[in-house]
Amino acid sequence: MTIPASLETGYLENILTRTGRPSNRTIKAIIEKAGAKKGLSLEDVGHLVNLKDPQLINYLFRTASQIKQDIYGERLVFFAPLYVSDYCVNDCEYCNFHSRNKELKRRQLSLEEVEEQTKFLINEGHKRILLEAGEDPVNTPIDYIADVIKKIYSVRTSKGKIQRINVNIAATTVENYRRLKESNIGTYQLFQETYHQPTYEKLHRGPKASFERQITAHLRAFEGGLDDVGIGVLFGLADWRFEVLALVAHSIYLDQTYNVGPHTISVPRIRPADTVSYQPAAPVSDDDFLKLIAILRLAVPYTGMIISTRESSQVRKAAFKIGISQTSAGSVTVTGGYGQKNSQPQFSISDERSLEDVIKDVIKDKFIPSFCTACYRLGRTGERFMELSKPGEIHKFCRSNALLTFAEYLYDCTNNGVTEEGQRLIQEYLRQIEDATLRKKTEQRLAEIAAGKRDICF
Ligand code: SAM
Ligand code: SF4
Repeated sequence: MTIPASLETGYLENILTRTGRPSNRTIKAIIEKAGAKKGLSLEDVGHLVNLKDPQLINYLFRTASQIKQDIYGERLVFFAPLYVSDYCVNDCEYCNFHSRNKELKRRQLSLEEVEEQTKFLINEGHKRILLEAGEDPVNTPIDYIADVIKKIYSVRTSKGKIQRINVNIAATTVENYRRLKESNIGTYQLFQETYHQPTYEKLHRGPKASFERQITAHLRAFEGGLDDVGIGVLFGLADWRFEVLALVAHSIYLDQTYNVGPHTISVPRIRPADTVSYQPAAPVSDDDFLKLIAILRLAVPYTGMIISTRESSQVRKAAFKIGISQTSAGSVTVTGGYGQKNSQPQFSISDERSLEDVIKDVIKDKFIPSFCTACYRLGRTGERFMELSKPGEIHKFCRSNALLTFAEYLYDCTNNGVTEEGQRLIQEYLRQIEDATLRKKTEQRLAEIAAGKRDICF
């Protein structure tokens, strides 16, 4: 497979050169246009990433908040990563699992250990897992990944089960993507790390060193039948302005080629790690980081955006307001590390609070924590999802589903005072449901949940 022309480094650099000195008038017009929620062109994004005027930055944030509110409402979807193997044949400069790390006693979870870790996460309240593994075709073949997925879906505790497994594993073959599809995964996520080809080639050794293999992986995933894919950049490796333009170019390319853009964009920022001496060549400040999230929100309004616990609680709080729709919480980045500290993490995290503590905090800002997986379970994925989400169709049900899943969480998994505030929040949002029939139905279902019924959604 060849690199799509619109993702070539030279092509993107040319756009940045052409758009490098936008007037305030140009910027204002672009932000105004973005308010219509139809996305932005690559030229528009080239201009926006050069935004410096403080008043216009405020205008950018206000518009991003409005778009987030219109499309995602006050919902915030939670998940947790699960590291199942740190065997890795690659030697990425920035990652502690790189093959040069000889201190790390490599580990791959047995299916019994997968079961234990899954029980831990279910009991915390999670319904979604992001499965993570290093690349090692011998120790961690696709058969192992398929067995792990099957195991996770089979685990049940009194607090429920995992209902959606998203997968973040190395770029692979159409055949292997087909196996993931058959295993019923949610989103297949793969980060390009950096879209800047010379930088990419400098930072990677092993099979992942092929820029082409990495950048064409999502195309193979579509060929293998997966229609929910996630993209991302590891911010800090190359100029963030270039990376943002490339993320939007990648989204537009997938949308035009497969009629469905990426389901999610992740925005990991590089973190310190035990055996990593690499220093970010293009560190991104907190201010620029928030700016880039807002720009992405304007450029691809219907794509979910994910932030992880790599970020501090303060940055996360600000990011939730201007565009983030999904977040991890209570995470560990150690293989088999839930409930025990037994090995080196992939990188150090910043927000170390438990899921419950994060939830306590976000409900103060009036976000509804959502554990909903209804779309995926009812087959509303890929093109079908976009058909419903673009005209705002799903949105009506999403708030109700968020309230129902949050109510289940409050009954089943909280123990230190979040319950009352949570119930108040549920009542407040229930009153705001305009459609009287939907409000009534939601009320009835909340009563059923209070009486012990579980797993009911629209
Ligand atoms: N091994 C697979 C791969 O490389 O695609 C699976 C994902 S890896 C477990 C998850 C992601 O962690 C990588 O894609 C990379 O962006 C990120 N990562 C690696 N080292 C990091 C670091 N030091 N700080 C923050 N994120 C890091
Ligand atoms: Fe391996 Fe992924 Fe880490 Fe690279 S980022 S060393 S491929 S686990």
